[in-house]
Amino acid sequence: MTTSPAAAASIPPTDTPRLTIDGDRLWASLMELATIGAYRDAETGLIGVDRQSLTDADAAGRRLLVRWMREAGLEVTVDEMGTIFGRREGSDPTLAPVLAGSHIDSVGTAGAFDGCLGVLGALEVVRSLDDRGITTRRPLVIVAWTEEEGVRFGTDMLGSAVAAGRIALADALDLTDVEGHRFGDELARIGFDGSRPVRLTPPHAYLECHIEQGPVLLRGGHAVGIVTGVQAISWQKVTLHGRAAHAGTTPTELRIDAGLAAAQIVVKVREMVDSGRYGRLRATVGRINTFPGLPSVVPDRAELTVDLRNPDGDRMAAAEKDLAEFLETLPQWQPGLRVVTERMAKTHPVPFDPRIRDLVADVATDLGHEPLALMSGAGHDAQEMAPITPTGMVFVRGQYDGISHNPREYSTPEDCAAGITVLANALLRLTEEPSGA
Ligand SMILES: [Zn+2]
Repeated sequence: MTTSPAAAASIPPTDTPRLTIDGDRLWASLMELATIGAYRDAETGLIGVDRQSLTDADAAGRRLLVRWMREAGLEVTVDEMGTIFGRREGSDPTLAPVLAGSHIDSVGTAGAFDGCLGVLGALEVVRSLDDRGITTRRPLVIVAWTEEEGVRFGTDMLGSAVAAGRIALADALDLTDVEGHRFGDELARIGFDGSRPVRLTPPHAYLECHIEQGPVLLRGGHAVGIVTGVQAISWQKVTLHGRAAHAGTTPTELRIDAGLAAAQIVVKVREMVDSGRYGRLRATVGRINTFPGLPSVVPDRAELTVDLRNPDGDRMAAAEKDLAEFLETLPQWQPGLRVVTERMAKTHPVPFDPRIRDLVADVATDLGHEPLALMSGAGHDAQEMAPITPTGMVFVRGQYDGISHNPREYSTPEDCAAGITVLANALLRLTEEPSGA
């Protein structure tokens, strides 16, 4: 285990009262939670984490978290989706609490930081408040959302989406994994089918600290970033039906080559990005398969996925429309080609509350950071909270170009402490806000 002094130690002093945190304690908690569900990655030899939602490993992780919450004096409740809340009372318990957290479930090939930093970071804030004997005006509530990753039951941000009312509880409980296990049954099996009503009374604000999962902060030399929102995501599967033919005997003009059409799509989406007509569009063809997949046969079928991302909803809609029109023109090149599209996912851009953004940026600047404002390319529980409460996010720099969902995922102890120090001081300000703020 690597340890280091809290990043707060290097921050120049000013007259503003500040909350420092214990970076070593935060790191120790992150490393201890990461031992639950740990496995050795066969390819790299690295230790990864597999703590998928509602598995025995998830249950063990949850029990450790609940123990730590209780040791920190929090009042622990579990809602009907298994989401865990830990409440630290404020001096005015009648005021709406400030909510802070993330998730501790993981993908099958995870590192120690995705989600866990936000939950254990919020816990570290509570521990630091306790160390200094600080009672905040508003209650502070830590949350660990259920099934954020969506890898087991197929829907991501599930716990927060039900809490916010976007997905019905009954629908969520009826989801099944690939082996047919029902979400509601698995929740009961691990003993986290709580009784707290799932629909969340809107808190005063929601803050989430998370690793960036991208290279922007690292390349820009920033330890922390202020997230302006979550960009729109569009996934579709495109299937191209052509005609199988012999590679040597079939004249080119008689072919209906599904592989050629797939390649045209790959080039087209890149041209769309390069055209600049769609703002900050990102386009990726991440999966492409041709059938029958033989060297000497013209493919009769090709399947590919198109992942579009855009922080601007109108420009995203324009990109989707123009791509759809392009797909319709493909048979002009190869008469007889058939194009079938299937929607896999679609989310709208979610801008975060400007006041919370400014408050977090102000706190970060005050702590000596030059915070970078950036959009999130990935989905987070914060986007489910944004429609019901003023919401913000702090990003923490990742190493190795921000690789995540991989055992190589790594943020330094210093950067983790820096992000959680920003979280702590932003929470301190938000919890002091009076009624009506
Ligand atoms: Zn996450």
